[in-house]
Amino acid sequence: MLPKEKWKKAWEWKKLLAEKKTSPKEICEEYLKRAEQDKTNAFIKLTPEWARGVAQSVSQDSQDVMSGIPIGLKDNLVTKGIETTCGSKILQNYKPPYDGTVVKKLKDLQAVVIGKCNLDEFAMGSSNENSAYGSVSLPQKENYVPGGSSGGSAAAVAGGLVVHALGSDTGGSVRQPASFCGVVGLKPTYGRVSRYGLVAFASSLDQIGPLALDVQDCADMYDSIAGYDPLDSTSANRKNESCGLRVREVRESKSKRDEKLKSLTVGLPKEFFGEGLSDDVRASIDACIQKMRAKGVKFKEVSLPHSKFALPVYYVVAVSEASTNLSRYDGVRFGPRILPHENKTTLEEMYSATRGALFGPEVKRRILLGTFALSSGYYDAYYKKACQVRNLISQDFIRTFHDVDVILGPTTPTVSFEKGAKSNDPLSMYLSDIYTVPVNLAGVPAVSIPSGLGNHQLPVGLQIIGPSFSEPELLSAAATIESLLEE
Ligand code: GLN
Repeated sequence: MLPKEKWKKAWEWKKLLAEKKTSPKEICEEYLKRAEQDKTNAFIKLTPEWARGVAQSVSQDSQDVMSGIPIGLKDNLVTKGIETTCGSKILQNYKPPYDGTVVKKLKDLQAVVIGKCNLDEFAMGSSNENSAYGSVSLPQKENYVPGGSSGGSAAAVAGGLVVHALGSDTGGSVRQPASFCGVVGLKPTYGRVSRYGLVAFASSLDQIGPLALDVQDCADMYDSIAGYDPLDSTSANRKNESCGLRVREVRESKSKRDEKLKSLTVGLPKEFFGEGLSDDVRASIDACIQKMRAKGVKFKEVSLPHSKFALPVYYVVAVSEASTNLSRYDGVRFGPRILPHENKTTLEEMYSATRGALFGPEVKRRILLGTFALSSGYYDAYYKKACQVRNLISQDFIRTFHDVDVILGPTTPTVSFEKGAKSNDPLSMYLSDIYTVPVNLAGVPAVSIPSGLGNHQLPVGLQIIGPSFSEPELLSAAATIESLLEE
């Protein structure tokens, strides 16, 4: 386990700041030092000037939960004037001319950005071995993977290099690395957090989400970034209730927490506890369920019958959308250009030389599959059919939430694995996301919290899923469970 007492949460730092026991500058220097000495390769780029600039100007007494707090940003979040590579050579040295909406919000709140976090190229992967800037290591065990694709963000939080980090979750990329690294990770409801300035992978699935050391921090970060944004046409125009306050209530009062546990009805989907779930993960999740049962939580077996189609549906929808989204990287508009025959190169030769040399193998595999699935004659058989089945998956969730408040299960079928163990077998890699992908297809929110340790003393994650737009209830349920597990 990580020496968590050394890694303070944002709300703990805020207390020390209010008591004048430290200063934003001191906190910033401490985290920059740790990030500079990092051996996990969690960052693609450190941003010390940005960090120090904010730390110097932020007021010691600022009440906002984010101000003066060191954070990391996944390197697919565009930052004005600062390289945004998406873990790809095709965007090497690319400096965006604008800030994404969440980046702007965090700038306005005076969060201290320590750096841009490593990721699988264009967020495609489950182990962070697909980055053109080198793989990331699990902070707890050398040569093991931190999960992906937000592996750099998760490793930076778990390794104490930042207090918070943002990731993006298309099929599990916040929750799966959170689970592997033993931290908390939230995928919000689709439409809750603006995607403006998140480099698109699969637009109907992508959501930005926080990674943090506990549910309180995760809720506070979510409150800071969520909300309607006219710059994102899929943004939901709905009122936001503070999740941080709801979590604080249960965290600060044991009687409130126990009351909440007694009123909770939890669904256990039989599809999430079947074949493929490893014994150590099952044992850890079962132990959590026992603890909750002892406190009066009601459990119901439920079924999400179409979730068995989730992976094939995801790998049609995601690759199709990726193939169109990635067509913009053509050597003309962004990044470097390769001209194989100097000034005699044709446009097509330039496209293929640039894309051929600068995209990595996983990205190419997906562009090929997606282009095929969308091509005329196949569109109806693949993309359209996948969208129809996606709707059935979504209906399974809607129906189940008539009977239960939240759905609970493992976040991933196994704990972290050794680097290289699955690199040559994409299908077995894709299976790491078997419990997270249905959630993205349905658009509902879900959070992964640490539930204990499995094989090799590595963290296990518990996934809690709620109905669309239920973040306040979902996070307060997660906080009650977290507090019970810590007892
Ligand atoms: N691992 C999944 C994939 O490779 C999910 C990625 C993600 O959520 N960004 O597509």
